[in-house]
Amino acid sequence: MSTGLPGKQLNVTVIGAGIVGAAIACSLAQRGVAATVIDKGRPGGGATSHSFAWINATAKHPVSYHNFNRRSLGMWDRFAKGLNVDVGLRWGGQMEWAATAEGAADLESRAAQLQAWGYPCRMLDRAQMAQLEPGLSPRQVTAAIYCELDGMVEPALAAEACIRAAAKHGAAIRLDTQVTSLKVDSESAVVAAGGESIDADVVVLAGGVDNTRLAAMAGITIPQEDSPGVVIRTNPIAQPLFTNLSVVYAPSLEPGRPEIHLRQCLDGSAMIGEGTQESLARDDSQAHADELLARAAEYVPGLKGASAIPVPVGYRPMPLDGFPVIGFSPKAPNVYLALTHSGVTLAPLIAQLATMEIVDGAQVDLLYDYRPSRFD
Ligand SMILES: Cc1cc2nc3c(=O)[nH]c(=O)nc-3n(C[C@H](O)[C@H](O)[C@H](O)COP(=O)(O)OP(=O)(O)OC[C@H]3O[C@@H](n4cnc5c(N)ncnc54)[C@H](O)[C@@H]3O)c2cc1C
Repeated sequence: MSTGLPGKQLNVTVIGAGIVGAAIACSLAQRGVAATVIDKGRPGGGATSHSFAWINATAKHPVSYHNFNRRSLGMWDRFAKGLNVDVGLRWGGQMEWAATAEGAADLESRAAQLQAWGYPCRMLDRAQMAQLEPGLSPRQVTAAIYCELDGMVEPALAAEACIRAAAKHGAAIRLDTQVTSLKVDSESAVVAAGGESIDADVVVLAGGVDNTRLAAMAGITIPQEDSPGVVIRTNPIAQPLFTNLSVVYAPSLEPGRPEIHLRQCLDGSAMIGEGTQESLARDDSQAHADELLARAAEYVPGLKGASAIPVPVGYRPMPLDGFPVIGFSPKAPNVYLALTHSGVTLAPLIAQLATMEIVDGAQVDLLYDYRPSRFD
């Protein structure tokens, strides 16, 4: 690991301007690091632009990973405030209900587990559901839960704002510039990008799904699984769809079909996906988008008359064991990895901890389970 010599300004190249890389670059630049950010596209244009962007610790286990997410969730207010622009951060919680006896048993056990972990989550009856969210038409209900801490954000806006803030603190930003090679030794790293060679004390790999390829350039093995997901959009809807909630999970209308989830974005459009946050989906056709919207409109009358806009399949950064990969690699001590699913929830925490490890030379115990060396 290299944290630079005393008195010498640390020089860090961050590869990737998604929500994770952008947050790290912003945090490093604010600490006085000479940061360079390189992205082959635009800020937030990778997985970040496909994200449902539910900020939560609700769907995270075991308890250590739940707590990790919860800590980051608790940082989002301050993080967003520091960006000095509305990035669509909204709280209100997540409500989910079931329409079968089996679904009810699942929700009851999940609520009990979250309560045991100290995460506010409670069962609602039908009257409480209606009181909390009068805009919903839930049809058959066997049980419902409400997790009040959960929120949502516009992650591409947040990534753009982080890059602007990093630039304001002196970071060099190179967009539409692809990193083609990475050479590291014990003293430094050289990144080849856009026909140039850029020297750095530390290189942060925040390339999302491309991190496996980028890490391999430095002799590091970080396996990922293919994790395609589809979240469609609608045209902007003038009226608020929900009074209180930020995220809604509704049961399938037919047996054997996945549940759907939806939220309303800052521009009024709705995002609709199906299944869990890890479900694999590849159908990005107009027909499928129309069908998802029709299903959502059964529950959310405010969606009637909206048009569905298909969004191409997005690929989640997904380390093989599903958990984040964060930290310096023992194989290439000047390379810091930042790869994770749930990167929208986790960006503020990852940025803070990565900065402490890169700038202060700290070794954060909280990251012990998430070290790159577990794949060596
Ligand atoms: C369908 C879907 C739903 C999701 N829902 C949620 C959710 O509800 N809540 C949540 O917290 N998370 C969710 N996620 C996950 C979350 O979006 C990601 O974890 C997060 O966006 C990852 O951010 P990142 O910055 O690591 O990667 P990315 O956003 O992919 O950014 C990586 C960047 O690296 C750049 N790059 C790659 N290779 C190179 C190279 N060689 N040279 C230069 N630049 C390069 C890319 O251009 C890209 O901009 C979801 C993801 C998907 C796909």
